[in-house]
Amino acid sequence: MSVTYDCIVLGLGGVGSAALDHLARRGQRVLGIEQFRTVHDRGSSHGETRATRKAYFEHTNYVPLLERAEKLWRELECDTGRSLLEACGLFIAGPADGPCVQGCLRSAGEHKLKLEQLSPPEARRRFPNFEFDEADSIVYEPGAGYLRVEDCIRSHLERARQNGAESQFETAVIDWEPTDNGVRVRTERSEYEAARLVITAGGWATDLISDLGFNLKILRKTLLWLPKTGDAYDAGPVFYYVRPRGDYYGFPSLDGATIKLSEHTGGDPVDRPEDIDPALLERDAEPLAEFARQFLPAADPQPTRHATCFYTMSPDGRFYVDRHPEHPQVAFAAGLSGHGFKFASVLGEVLADLAIDGETEQPIGFLGVEERI
Ligand SMILES: Cc1cc2nc3c(=O)[nH]c(=O)nc-3n(C[C@H](O)[C@H](O)[C@H](O)COP(=O)(O)OP(=O)(O)OC[C@H]3O[C@@H](n4cnc5c(N)ncnc54)[C@H](O)[C@@H]3O)c2cc1C
Repeated sequence: MSVTYDCIVLGLGGVGSAALDHLARRGQRVLGIEQFRTVHDRGSSHGETRATRKAYFEHTNYVPLLERAEKLWRELECDTGRSLLEACGLFIAGPADGPCVQGCLRSAGEHKLKLEQLSPPEARRRFPNFEFDEADSIVYEPGAGYLRVEDCIRSHLERARQNGAESQFETAVIDWEPTDNGVRVRTERSEYEAARLVITAGGWATDLISDLGFNLKILRKTLLWLPKTGDAYDAGPVFYYVRPRGDYYGFPSLDGATIKLSEHTGGDPVDRPEDIDPALLERDAEPLAEFARQFLPAADPQPTRHATCFYTMSPDGRFYVDRHPEHPQVAFAAGLSGHGFKFASVLGEVLADLAIDGETEQPIGFLGVEERI
């Protein structure tokens, strides 16, 4: 049986849940299709928290999108009554002349963002449960913090439903094809037609837009929860250290007993998300324990729990957000490269704009596919 929609959203993770919400709020008859259950732990959007910051070392081009994303997260909080964005502050410690510290300073300078620079003694006084190298330069963004990742998805799905969106979970899309009037999407159980399609399939994007020849690499990542003493790390901040061995980051305690720690660099490449080994391997735990011993004096390096997740890397670390060059009725976000969650709210809005209007006011030119694939 074929059912017709204005738009179908393929994949209801971080970005897809936001796209579903924005399309529904713009009055579209929209269907979201997700292969797993609601808010699952088999993609890239689970594990309690995601860092959000605006003095963006990756590139100054992202800053206007981050300003818009923050506004949209705050609106979502108001509409759903959930606390989603905790502005507990965030510091980055690393070499003064390195790309992270320099990139933060550049973005803050160009966009007039509040960013403090601290010496190691100043940082120790301010953050007594952290250790620093004498050579570190520390930049602290008081308005940065973290997002409660699962609640963000829940909130987008809830508001989408209130605005009339339909969703199907535990339903895998097998393929889609362009038609004279839009697209036909085939699932295990049914076929649907829609005027437009938004593809937000995360690590499965290459299966669904294979004709674009994306070169996306899946990197396995491990998250550890370490016990900590007293009220250390309860109030923040989020922390990010650039060390010679890798970049390590972590979050304040959400449960009063543990903190979450992970490594941004490294990660084992796998062919497909399904190939991720969920076990905690010695090579995951050892570098993080070593880091904790040196820089987190109030944490116990022996984890009490762990989770695995994956990054979907584009070759240049920049997202792909665009319309399909040959099928303009199809818009997509892919290759979010391990830093995309904080943008999910604005990417949902952008994808709704691209699907409905064919264009967006948001400055996404640097994320287009032209000349990049
Ligand atoms: C450990 C870790 C830490 C991170 N830390 C940060 C951070 O601090 N800050 C930050 O901003 N970002 C961070 N990121 C990155 C961020 O989480 C991701 O970029 C973002 O969550 C990706 O969202 P997505 O919607 O593209 O993918 P997902 O959330 O994985 O959603 C894709 C969805 O599509 C569905 N799907 C795929 N194929 C099909 C199909 N055929 N049929 C139906 N459904 C399908 C999947 O099941 C999935 O639900 C981190 C990522 C990881 C793994």
